[in-house]
Parts: sequence; structure tokens; C-alpha cells
Amino acid sequence: MRLKLYQVGEPVLGQPARELTSDEIRSPSIQQLIEFMRETMRDARGVGLAASQVGESLQLAVIEDREEAIAAVPAEMLVERQRAPTPFHVIINPRLTITNSTVVAFFEGCLSLPSFHAIVPRALEVRINCLNEKAESVVINASGWYARILQHEIDHLNGRLYVERMEPRSFTTADNYARYWKDLSTNDVLEKIGGVDKRRYSVR
Ligand code: ZN
Repeated sequence: MRLKLYQVGEPVLGQPARELTSDEIRSPSIQQLIEFMRETMRDARGVGLAASQVGESLQLAVIEDREEAIAAVPAEMLVERQRAPTPFHVIINPRLTITNSTVVAFFEGCLSLPSFHAIVPRALEVRINCLNEKAESVVINASGWYARILQHEIDHLNGRLYVERMEPRSFTTADNYARYWKDLSTNDVLEKIGGVDKRRYSVR
């Protein structure tokens, strides 16, 4: 079942979500929520979806970066973004540690602001301690695009959207992103939009 995607301005998107107990995680209702979130994410062609985006203020997100999605992206862009297929998985009650604070800045989007993009600086590498859908403890070490997805989703669980972290002058509609910006390097975009302190970024 495809769930309603809550859009920016919905109070639930600004609230820190509550943790789940192991019993709750294993309950039929949460197992079903995970299944519906998986379908909703795939249907919307997202690479991650947090429970707050479907109106549930819970520390739970699903992540998947599919081969098919990646196949449509130019090879040099995949290398630049360090993007590779990531199989479907669930993160619950995550704790994030930045393991490499080198800042990488790229355009990103969000299913809760579907027609926009902006350059968002993120840490290059992170470690996540969390539970999976069986309530087992898991440690994830991630870098590049996968680390970006994790940081984006965990922000959702803390009630934050990328607009709080973006380079404001890079904010663009999806149409104008495709028209003017998508083929430029981050460096070139920052140069063109002007007024940006590039020392904040280690752009690639
Ligand atoms: Zn999002």
C-alpha cells in the first residue's frame, strides 16, 4: 500500500521522533509499516524514507539505492558522489557518529519537498549504531552517497529537513535544476551563484 507522503509544513516533520522498543519493532503493526514504507519509497523513486514522512513520529527509516536508479546516472557523477547500490534495509533508534568530518557538498532532494533541490554539505563518513527490523543491534560504517542518505534520514528522525543545512543560494526548483545546474560541478555552481563562503566546503 502506498502511504501519503507528508509535505514540508506538516508539524510531524519538525518533531523529534520517539524511540521504538524491541517488542514494538517485532509487532505486526510496525512490520506492516516497514513493508508499506518500502512500497511507498520505491513508488516515489526515493532512496530513503523516514517514518515522520508518512505521519508516524517514530525513530525508523527505510533505505535503498537500487541498481536500476543508479544505472540512469552518468558514470562520472557516480564516481564524484561515491554512489553505489545499497540494498534495502531498515534503521531504528539510530545513533550517528561522524567518523570523517571532511565536508562534501552536492545537490540533494527530499520526498517531503518534491519539486526542489539544493546543495547540502554533509560529512564524508559516518558510523551508525541502530537496530534492524528484527530488533538486532547493527553497526553501519558508511561513506559517500550512502553516508549522505543516512545523515538525511537521521535528520528527519530528529525533526530536521535539509533546508536547515542547505546553501540557501543554491535552492532551486527541480525544473531549473535540470535546466541550469545538473551538469555543473558543485564548485562551478558555487562560483556561479556567488556570495558563498567556499571555505565552508571541501567540494569535489
Ligand atoms: Zn527527506
